Amino acid sequence: MTLFVVPGERHVERMAREGIHAETRTSLRTRLVAALLPDVRFADPRETRLALAMALWPEEAFASASPARQLDLFGTAKRADPVLAPLRRRGGTSWVRLVESIDAAIGVVRARGATAEDLERVATRAGGVTASRAGALAVAMRALDRVLAKSGARDGRLLGRALVEAIATTAPTALAAHVGDHRVRARWLLAWDQGDLAWWRALDERLAAANGWARVALPSFDRPLEGSRERDPLETLAEDLASGLDAAPEAEPIAMVLGDLAGTGPKPEELARVRIVRAQDPVAQARAVTALVSEALAGGAAVERVVIAAPSLDERTLAPVRRAIEDAGIVAYEARGTPPSEAPVVFAALLALEAAATLDRRTVARLLRSGFVDPAAIVGGERREAERSIARVAQAFETKRMAAGPDPAARLVATVPADDAAAARALVDILRNAHAPRMRADHVRSARGLWSALGIGARAGRGGLATFASDESPSGVPRAERLAIARDARAWESLANALDAYESVAHASDALEHEIDGEVFRLELVGVLDAAAMRPGAGRAGAVRITRLADVAGDELDLLVVIDANEGVLPRDVTQDAIVSDALGEALARASRGSFAPLSSSLVRARELSALATAAADAARVVLSFTVEDGAGAPLAPSPVVDVLVRAGAVVSAPPGSVAVAPAAGPIASADDVMRRASRERTREAFFLDPRRPTSDLVADLGARPSAEVRAILEAETGGGARSLSVTGLERFARCPFMGYAHVILAAREAERQEELPDAREEGNLIHEALAAAFVATQEQWARRPRDRAAIFQRGLAAADEVLARAAGHAALAAVVRLRVRDAVVVVLSRACDDDVWDFALAEQVFGSARDASWPALELEDGGVRLSLRGTIDRVDRAHDGQSVRVIDYKRSKSTVDGSSRGLGETALQVPLYACVASRRFGVPGKGLYLPTQPRDLATGAVPSAKVERRMDDLVAREAPGALTEIERRALGVVRAVREGRLAPTPADESACRTCAVSGGCRKPRFAMAPADEEEEGAS
Ligand code: SF4
Repeated sequence: MTLFVVPGERHVERMAREGIHAETRTSLRTRLVAALLPDVRFADPRETRLALAMALWPEEAFASASPARQLDLFGTAKRADPVLAPLRRRGGTSWVRLVESIDAAIGVVRARGATAEDLERVATRAGGVTASRAGALAVAMRALDRVLAKSGARDGRLLGRALVEAIATTAPTALAAHVGDHRVRARWLLAWDQGDLAWWRALDERLAAANGWARVALPSFDRPLEGSRERDPLETLAEDLASGLDAAPEAEPIAMVLGDLAGTGPKPEELARVRIVRAQDPVAQARAVTALVSEALAGGAAVERVVIAAPSLDERTLAPVRRAIEDAGIVAYEARGTPPSEAPVVFAALLALEAAATLDRRTVARLLRSGFVDPAAIVGGERREAERSIARVAQAFETKRMAAGPDPAARLVATVPADDAAAARALVDILRNAHAPRMRADHVRSARGLWSALGIGARAGRGGLATFASDESPSGVPRAERLAIARDARAWESLANALDAYESVAHASDALEHEIDGEVFRLELVGVLDAAAMRPGAGRAGAVRITRLADVAGDELDLLVVIDANEGVLPRDVTQDAIVSDALGEALARASRGSFAPLSSSLVRARELSALATAAADAARVVLSFTVEDGAGAPLAPSPVVDVLVRAGAVVSAPPGSVAVAPAAGPIASADDVMRRASRERTREAFFLDPRRPTSDLVADLGARPSAEVRAILEAETGGGARSLSVTGLERFARCPFMGYAHVILAAREAERQEELPDAREEGNLIHEALAAAFVATQEQWARRPRDRAAIFQRGLAAADEVLARAAGHAALAAVVRLRVRDAVVVVLSRACDDDVWDFALAEQVFGSARDASWPALELEDGGVRLSLRGTIDRVDRAHDGQSVRVIDYKRSKSTVDGSSRGLGETALQVPLYACVASRRFGVPGKGLYLPTQPRDLATGAVPSAKVERRMDDLVAREAPGALTEIERRALGVVRAVREGRLAPTPADESACRTCAVSGGCRKPRFAMAPADEEEEGAS
């Protein structure tokens, strides 16, 4: 009998079905360690990395002669402050990443057979940066071993070496008994590091004494040796193994499905099962791959015999594949799927830590909106009411600026409406309890307490029980729900385990009392979490496998799809380790007298190409997919393997959009759909670029023949029915029909979210509010002669100050905005005091409102078109002699006044229409005025030109009682066009596009410039 040693559990299962005894290399190694080294505990990679972080962190480590003090990776030790000290003080990401680099470098050194003594020899003999790095790594390695030793552990990367000695001192028969056989053969194992080679060789030597052996069988191409041809990757691999094992591996012939991967293509009969897919980018590749998998499954391929393999685990290409496969309803399995830290529930848990650390309102709002916080756990009481209350708190944090208060917690509470203050207080108390922990132990305790208080763990499997209540195979939403719940529940369990592991390593390393910042804690915890992420193998039953190419060897497949067959990826460009440079590698090889084997790029390439050749050999169909550009648009070239196959005549699928992109069925768009959409979008974009601008229904011009149904909607929504149209909505139609359509009919709105400082719009609203308060508070003063200026100022400013006090926020600069608004109130009051012709009468006067019926809507009718208008007039003045009325519209600056004056009667309809409303109300002629509120604009005299005044008078002049004014006729003309379906994006002035909230929605290309802009560009 022979024990076969294979790469994975699937190989074990496959051989068991054939009655062959097999085991994975990891399992055999673990069994031997348990049997031969029962008193030694080897730390796993996550424990090792954490222990290293803890070994290098303590402040005292930075005292002279301490390990961290000597960690002079960049040869800067002569300076007063070594490079690590500032990074340690800064903490956060840079420190955690540095620890990761040092850990990886120790891994490289140990995997290739060098020791701390070898590094110390290099440090003494070499010079410059090489010596510094060697010394630094030796120090870090010893510090790591010391910390691990405290918990009775050794670095797991030393396991292979430790096993060598143990095997050598075990009696051959006892060893054979531990192994389970005295003959062991490795199959399909292509990657061997120095440690594995060492214990395998020792096993072979020892079993030989019991008439046994430990051999390695390697795949090879069945062809004669020729001195003249280039070595293929399998030969390179065999040669390397032979030098490490002191014996040539056994050859297992395989078919050359992809040629010899050294420049010679396959024979025509092999080429028939190979196909190349050329995709534009990773998303197109994902669609093409999904289509091929769907096609294969529909054609009878067994789901477990379909594999999507990637040369390396790169989320930029794997994530789109995962999404496309899931969208197509195909069950897929990944041994190492999405990192648990990206699971929504873990994201929410980490966000909770950040929210507690910062008490930032937006972070808290995102946490509350995550769906993983249990409102009832926070505020108690009835669940529905708790949910509503927490939703309102979240909305306030999202949309309101931070209120003033003595500390961050008080400011958060003051930001929400009084009715929800209790809920906000309960939430803030929970966050404050977890605020600013210092020691590692405090961080662990606070995290547990915070998650439990917010009910995050309980929500991980939230409300999904209904989806599990049926035995039927779920599809659609229930299926997505089940998958999401399963993922959350698994990720939550991983997080809880990772926190336990973190705590126990910190305890064993005496690091619980280290003072660390919140970011270091979060990053260290995520490191532990993601390092432990392996899915149970049972999940691959009945699933398409997405895996690394290196894990496919020996699988009999119906379809193998290799993604990312690009230059530099398959095989990958080998770059040197960030710390173990080529120079350090060579110095270590000399210092270790050959036991350190520097990384050979040809060997790495040979391993990867061998994995490809072996995987392809047992596949009925092989597809290699490459992309023309990466996700960011950078051009990519196909792998040399693809080039050889194409030269040999392999079929390359047509560009995306045809065969590769069109699936047999499912939610992915068909090629026809794509073409139709593309053509529509092209038409819409071209409309903006063509000066003749032919219109059609594709660009929202309904050709004056909208259906009766559409017409009824257009009429009802534009003041032709029961509801009045706002004058601002009417003005939007006049500026651009599509803008008006989006705003009035589709009710598209930009979300109003307050930043810590008011933006221009909010500042304008505040000015309006403060001015209204100031004028209303002094109403009885304005008709008096002489006016009591002092009383007007005293009462007016007091009222404005009350408004400003209510708007006070936490941000210090908000005070500047309030001062600016107050200045505006002062100058507008002053100007009104100087003007004896007009007396203030009303502020913020609404008309046509459903809630305030004091002023009715402005009703217009002509030629069968009826229009009802509503609005709010900023200010109404009455002439002191009572013979006329004037409406005032406040504008922020003189330039906006000029803009409105230029478009008077065309796009600026508001003030003349308001003048008509006031005129009808008081039965006297009406006038209109735009008034800037900035002190400097008013100081330089914001008197309208005679031309503007004349134009305004003309627009509101009523030739006979009951007749329509010019502006009223214009308003009716605008809505008539809209109701006829003329809604195309045709701005009256193209500069409107610059600030239009609908830009993009109308398909105006982002790069399209208004002619005026082009002229400006040309002139500059
Ligand atoms: S971006 Fe320009 S064309 Fe498009 S809706 Fe706005 S104003 Fe009209």
